[in-house]
Amino acid sequence: MFETLSEKLKKTLKTLRGESKLTEAHITAAMGDIRIALLEADVNYGVVKQFVERVKEKALGQEVWQSLSPAQQVVKIVFDEMVELLGGDASEVTFTAHNPNVILMVGLQGSGKTTSTGKIARFLAQQRKRHPLLVSVDVYRPAARDQLSVIGKAIGVPVYEDATTNDPLALARAAYRDAQLRGFDTLLVDTAGRLHIDDELMTELAQLKSELNPIETLFVADAMIGQDAVRSATEFHERIGLTGVVLSKMDGDARGGAALSIRSMIGQPIKFVGVGEKYDALESFYPDRIAQRILG
Ligand code: GDP
Repeated sequence: MFETLSEKLKKTLKTLRGESKLTEAHITAAMGDIRIALLEADVNYGVVKQFVERVKEKALGQEVWQSLSPAQQVVKIVFDEMVELLGGDASEVTFTAHNPNVILMVGLQGSGKTTSTGKIARFLAQQRKRHPLLVSVDVYRPAARDQLSVIGKAIGVPVYEDATTNDPLALARAAYRDAQLRGFDTLLVDTAGRLHIDDELMTELAQLKSELNPIETLFVADAMIGQDAVRSATEFHERIGLTGVVLSKMDGDARGGAALSIRSMIGQPIKFVGVGEKYDALESFYPDRIAQRILG
């Protein structure tokens, strides 16, 4: 994760620290290097531009020159701005007293949506002591529903199954009632995915959202496809309104462009990252820890 970016940024900051006397030219050169490193990591162009401008503005400010070690101060500015870029404080899932709390999982086919649904259910059961029920409302692909059942068994979380209906809304409603009756406090709904965004899917997701009133609508984005994932997230957010992102396959993403762009682009936080195929390969997203990992 972030290997090349991290290496380049660390090198730039090390050079700055090595200067006995920092000048404006040093800062300008460093900002140029940071800009190139971020663009090479596939961070969105507009996001890079804003990031570099903000750092530069602060780095050229009075306080920096008046501080005891200006270079150290610039490094701190880069770190703070990177934390901001990644979302500031970590965003946990916040539950309400109104059970079952619904979490709607959305995303394109192959993004890791079903796997992430299982991982999050497992995480919530283990770490947050919730009692989740799973349901797949993908009525178009029986294999998708089977996959969730297999995952449910593997992680020990029940899956609501009902082969009598082919209507996603009816299925979701029935699962909700079942969760209510059997005392599950959390219902994770794995929705249908498509290879590409289409109107039919968006209408269905909007209906599910309005029917279920979820506490979270989480978009699963495949980190490995970089800016394509950011574009899809933007469109999903515009069409149905997201509350957060699950960035899957971070273990296979050496560049980090999606991770560094998505928060700025859609204004919603990354809540979890997938870091492997196993069901325990999920981490909460802590912007400061990631910034630390990148800038060392
Ligand atoms: P869906 O079509 O969006 O439901 O995607 P799946 O959940 O079926 O995942 C597609 C593929 O990506 C599967 O082979 C998963 O094992 C794999 N996958 C999902 N999340 C991760 C992850 O965080 N890391 C890795 N390496 N693979 C993942």
